[in-house]
Amino acid sequence: MESAVQERIPLETATILGVPIHRVRMQEALAAMERFIAERTPHLVITADANAVLIALNDPEFHMLIQNADLITPDGAGLLWAGRYCRQPFPERVSGVDLVWHLVRLSHERGYRLFFLGAAPSVAERARQNLLQQFPNAQIVGAQHGYFCPDEESALIQQIREAQPDVLLVAMGMPRQEKWAHRHREALGVPVMIGVGGSFDVYAGVVKRAPKWLQNSGLEWLWRLIQDPRKIRKVRNLPRFAWRVLTQAPRK
Ligand code: UDP
Repeated sequence: MESAVQERIPLETATILGVPIHRVRMQEALAAMERFIAERTPHLVITADANAVLIALNDPEFHMLIQNADLITPDGAGLLWAGRYCRQPFPERVSGVDLVWHLVRLSHERGYRLFFLGAAPSVAERARQNLLQQFPNAQIVGAQHGYFCPDEESALIQQIREAQPDVLLVAMGMPRQEKWAHRHREALGVPVMIGVGGSFDVYAGVVKRAPKWLQNSGLEWLWRLIQDPRKIRKVRNLPRFAWRVLTQAPRK
């Protein structure tokens, strides 16, 4: 355990429109999270796409969270393009959906304890059941929906504490999930808290992930839009993000 703590080296950071994002590959992100688990103190992990950058620019509380997060992974074709344009390229996409899969795999292999929090009632539990079929030894020690009211919150925090997870995966949408995790970080005492957006919907089979070729072509947003037309707001933000990068982001 100690050696993992000692091996900590600073992660390379890109700055897109003033928002820091780590230039990590999936394997480096997972290694960083394993170090956080070994350290035992609370850490916040954010998966940042173009929309996350725009949210940060309009929401000082979220901007501060991202500035102070322990790991910010690069997600989405728009953000990867911005990295290339600003001559601070990201090595690959490290998305929330893929991180969930790898964390469950690591739990299966190494016994890490995971807690799923978020999505509509029964979705987190269905995601848990489906992932356990693939990784039967994974320790998914709790699954709770993300539509609780304020007076249910302290019981929920107590439940998470008692389950003693190493990783709390929070799927309540950005920036709600990050703000909630940060607000309760001391009470929760979980070494890794990570916002994973709509990932449980994917593993529960509520929404289908885009085929690999579409993910690789940078058109996953189109697939998401067809599945859920309410995502139009996010898609409309993409040209807005591109415009801001083209007009305001310095090229190193
Ligand atoms: N959600 C939740 N509690 C809420 C609002 C949303 O658990 O109060 C869930 C919702 O059911 C969905 C996820 O949060 O599973 C948000 O998914 P989305 O793809 O919109 O995430 P984003 O890309 O905005 O982070």
